[in-house]
Formats: sequence, C-alpha cells, structure tokens
Amino acid sequence: MGLKIYLDGKLVEKADAVVSVFDHGLLYGDGVFEGIRSYDGLVFKLSEHLDRLYESSHTLRLVVPLKKEALQNAVIETLKANGLKDAYIRLVVTRGVGDLGLDPRKCAKATIFIITDKITLYPREYYEKGLTLATVPTVRNHPEALNPQLKTLNYLNNILAKIEATNAGVDEAILLNSQGYVTECTGENIFTVKGKTLCTPPAYVGILRGITRQSVMDIAGSMGYKVIEEPFTRHELYIAEEVFLTGTAAEIVPIAKIDNRVIGEGRPGPVTKKFMDEFHKLTSKEGVRYTL
Ligand code: PMP
Repeated sequence: MGLKIYLDGKLVEKADAVVSVFDHGLLYGDGVFEGIRSYDGLVFKLSEHLDRLYESSHTLRLVVPLKKEALQNAVIETLKANGLKDAYIRLVVTRGVGDLGLDPRKCAKATIFIITDKITLYPREYYEKGLTLATVPTVRNHPEALNPQLKTLNYLNNILAKIEATNAGVDEAILLNSQGYVTECTGENIFTVKGKTLCTPPAYVGILRGITRQSVMDIAGSMGYKVIEEPFTRHELYIAEEVFLTGTAAEIVPIAKIDNRVIGEGRPGPVTKKFMDEFHKLTSKEGVRYTL
C-alpha cells in the first residue's frame, strides 16, 4: 500500500492525488500552505500552524472550506492512515478551480490537500559544522506588495534567492529588505547571539513570523537569555558571536560563515547548542497527541 493523501475530504492513493490544471493554486500561486512536524506521535504547534494558515487565507479572502477542528482532525487522520509517528506534514489550500483569468470570484471552492511523509532530515553535517550563508541580490518581498507574513504558494521570491545562493556556492541565502536590513533566509528565520542577548528581525522588516522563531523566543527567558526584535544590517551578522536559523523542517541550525566572514569560532557555538537541546526537549513533550 502506497502513501495516502488527503484531498478534499477523501484519502486517496498518491497516484490519484491530482488537482486540475485550472486550479488557481497552479495557474497563479493563489493559495496558502503550512509545513508542520510530528515527533513520536505528537504534532508540534499544530494549533499555531492552523491559526497562521487561517490568517493568511483571511487576508487573501480565501475561504477554507473546513473549520479549524475539522482541519486538525484531517491532519491527524492522514497521519494515522499512513502509520507515521514522525512526519513532515504539508497542508495546502488553493483557491480552487476557475477559468484562465485571475479573478478569484470565478473559483467556486478551495481545494485542500494534506501530504504526510517520512521526514527527510537535513544532513548531520549541517548541524555539526554549521552552514555557510550569503546575502543575495534579490530583495525580500516588500510588505506592501506581498507581505512575507502571508505564507502563500507564491514562493518565487525565495526561489530566486535560493538560486543565487547556489550560484554563490553557499548553502543558504539571506535576503535583505529594500532598505538593506536583514530579513530571513529562504525558509528559515535568523537570530544573532551576543552575550546573553538574542536578536531577530521584527515582522515589519518583511519576514514570516516563524513558529520555531516563536518557540525560541518562548524558551529564551527560562534559559537566561533576552530576545530583542530589532532591525539590523549585515554588519551585525558579521560581528555576532553566533548566528543560527530556525524553521520547522530545519529546526535550529548553526551558521559557520556569512559572506565569507567567519562567525564566532566558525563552528556551532555553545548558545546555539543549548537552544538546539532545549528545542528538542520541547518537541519531545509538547503537541497534539495521536495514536496509530
Ligand atoms: N521564513 C520562511 C520564508 C519560511 O518559509 C519558513 C518556513 N515555514 C520560516 C521562515 C520558518 O517558519 P516556521 O518556523 O514556522 O517553520
């Protein structure tokens, strides 16, 4: 038996999980999504991910055909159908089928699908050695154009940046905003460490309010660290004692080099390691529990 996909209320085989070529998610990137993890039968921050999905769709005036509780049940049902205790969950809501014009009023009903799969972890090396980053020419979407706080299916801003990072021979890109302030990476938020203070860009510079970012902010206090949300430039990155990234798929990733400047000792620092440990403790005990 192959992978089962949730599609508009039904669990279907992977080969049958298809959407129309007239779906505006495909024609225009008109839709929203979430990437979620489950750890040993606990879906981490499921409620927060669903809230962000509904918030993104609210601004897009995209009506999600399921209420929160039903959507939560659909996620759990899909995990169970696939017998997955540790999974990466991709929840997607598209505008649905319309005509070739972009007018969303022509799309009668949104399409929902949920893909749950085994998590493909990033190489261990990433966590042991740290990543290399480069700031790239593509500027992060301006909040007054397409606000990065909306997690939409239009990820070309991020994809262009990823291509530029690859061209530059580094692992990941840092996008600046139109004023030159650091925003985030293509799928992760960014933190600097100096002494007992962590600093991360505020949402208004143009970032996705990451749920892992929020978890780090939540645990920092009890670990004896202060977190400030303040705009900063590349210079602050270069002179930080440590830099790390946060994201659902990557969790917490140490950074070794940025734009060819060595960060700290050029390997995962003690504060980053402490946060990696605490974060793992959190994911092993918190979440929506399900049994297979
Ligand atoms: N920024 C962007 C652009 C992202 O796509 C993601 C991944 N969803 C993040 C940051 C990290 O957010 P989270 O911690 O909620 O996964």
